Amino acid sequence: MRDGAVMPKKHLGQHFLKDKNYVSRIIGTAEIGKDDVVVEIGPGTGALTFQLAELAGRVIAIEIDHALSQELAERAALYPNLTIIEADALRFPYETIETKFKVVANLPYYISTPILFRLMELRHKITSLTIMLQKEVAKRIVALPGGKDYGMLSIAVQFYAVPAIVFQIPPGAFFPVPEVNSAVLKIIPREKPAVAVRSEPLFWSVIKSAFSHRRKTLLNSLSMAGFPKEVTERILHTAGIAPLVRPEEIGMEAWGKIADALSEQHTGRSSHSID
Ligand code: SAM
Repeated sequence: MRDGAVMPKKHLGQHFLKDKNYVSRIIGTAEIGKDDVVVEIGPGTGALTFQLAELAGRVIAIEIDHALSQELAERAALYPNLTIIEADALRFPYETIETKFKVVANLPYYISTPILFRLMELRHKITSLTIMLQKEVAKRIVALPGGKDYGMLSIAVQFYAVPAIVFQIPPGAFFPVPEVNSAVLKIIPREKPAVAVRSEPLFWSVIKSAFSHRRKTLLNSLSMAGFPKEVTERILHTAGIAPLVRPEEIGMEAWGKIADALSEQHTGRSSHSID
């Protein structure tokens, strides 16, 4: 890493990994072989990119920064299996990649949540994700019901995939040094969602409504969102869920039961997707 050669752009979340020990650990976690197509999001100065190209069948690296992607493209000339694409990873048409792929990314913190939602939509194309993000966000992704970290993000990822924190990275491993700690997650998409539900749009609608008023009880937040109070009360009673419980205490199975029971009531509400 040539610290002096690049002026990091804060607004693009540019913190370059300079500690080679952590580079090796991330690459090892991704378990890349010659049969793999790898999509790297935000290659930056290439800390991971060229090692990935040594190991993988093909690497597609998507970098939004014009200067960085130009510099990477010049260096990529030596690697026929490496394609550098200058694009916004949030808008990139991943569907056009013909095969399944593995995602490897030291994510820019400012887009980590929308990127994760996008990647969960693409789960059928993805074999695994090895991603580094802010430790606080990683904790929210793996959180279980009952704690303050559990919420929409935990459910959105755990419904479609199995996430695990593999290791943490201290700020000093980067240039420039970020203000937060980082963690590397390995996420394996599930073949089928964790819970079978009648209507996924309604499932997400119920959960979104509940967590948008997370300090309120479940009964109140759902009725504020337009689900009739008497109906919701009856459904919670039948499902054995206390009406005064708060959303962060409810596990995925129970969300599924609530949504399925509400869908039977033909509440006529408009639907939502996870993002
Ligand atoms: N992978 C490099 C490393 O580990 O040193 C750089 C990681 S840095 C945390 C994030 C990178 O993502 C930066 O190079 C930044 O320019 C790039 N980036 C930021 N927003 C992006 C976006 N919307 N699409 C693609 N790349 C983006």
